[in-house]
Amino acid sequence: MQDGFDRRRMLRLGAALAAGSVLTGCAAATGHEPATEERHEGALTAEQALARLKHGNERFVAGNALHPGQTRARRGELAAGQHPIATVLSCVDSRVPPELVFDEGLGELFVARSAGQALDKAMLGSLQFGVHELHIPLLVVLGHSKCGAVKATIEAVEQKAPASGTDIDTLVTAIKPAVEKAWGAVDVLATAVRENVKNGIARLAAAPVMSTATAEKKLTIVGGVYDLATGKVAFL
Ligand SMILES: [Zn+2]
Repeated sequence: MQDGFDRRRMLRLGAALAAGSVLTGCAAATGHEPATEERHEGALTAEQALARLKHGNERFVAGNALHPGQTRARRGELAAGQHPIATVLSCVDSRVPPELVFDEGLGELFVARSAGQALDKAMLGSLQFGVHELHIPLLVVLGHSKCGAVKATIEAVEQKAPASGTDIDTLVTAIKPAVEKAWGAVDVLATAVRENVKNGIARLAAAPVMSTATAEKKLTIVGGVYDLATGKVAFL
């Protein structure tokens, strides 16, 4: 835990959340000292960050990845602090590492991953931290083709399988609404993958911190689906 993640700031964020100033986005109005600092000089806008991710993905697709930001010098620079350009919520699938898919280096992407990019409280808190403390302007919810977690959820619904009693049930519960929406589609899996991304966006957009940041135009949330075969991210 380095810049932006030290214990003092974590506690301060906790205090702000407890006081409700973050939840309601009314820190200034209630007279509380704003818990955040301004974005750093030269920070990208959401549009610029998205354009950069698209260009990086084009390089990756074409086999022309630059693998930037992996030198010893860059590592040293980043020891002083991080200013990621985008947050990516993606699946744990080993074939979808956001840094490679978008051809980005150390310190550029703030990544949270879970199977089928399912959201729970810890994931939501982590993503909110990135917005609130690091002022990351862009949040990408990234699904992918043939997602095993979505496929398993389809099978569970199809077979009316009882809960397994393991924590995998959490994933099924999180992904199930997308599967139900996709039911009857020509390609249920592909449709459910897209619906799952849309559900993720909706849930994030409604979450504390995110809803305020979005209303204040400090955060843009977008979705995309990564194609395992081509490497291309199709933004929704
Ligand atoms: Zn997956």
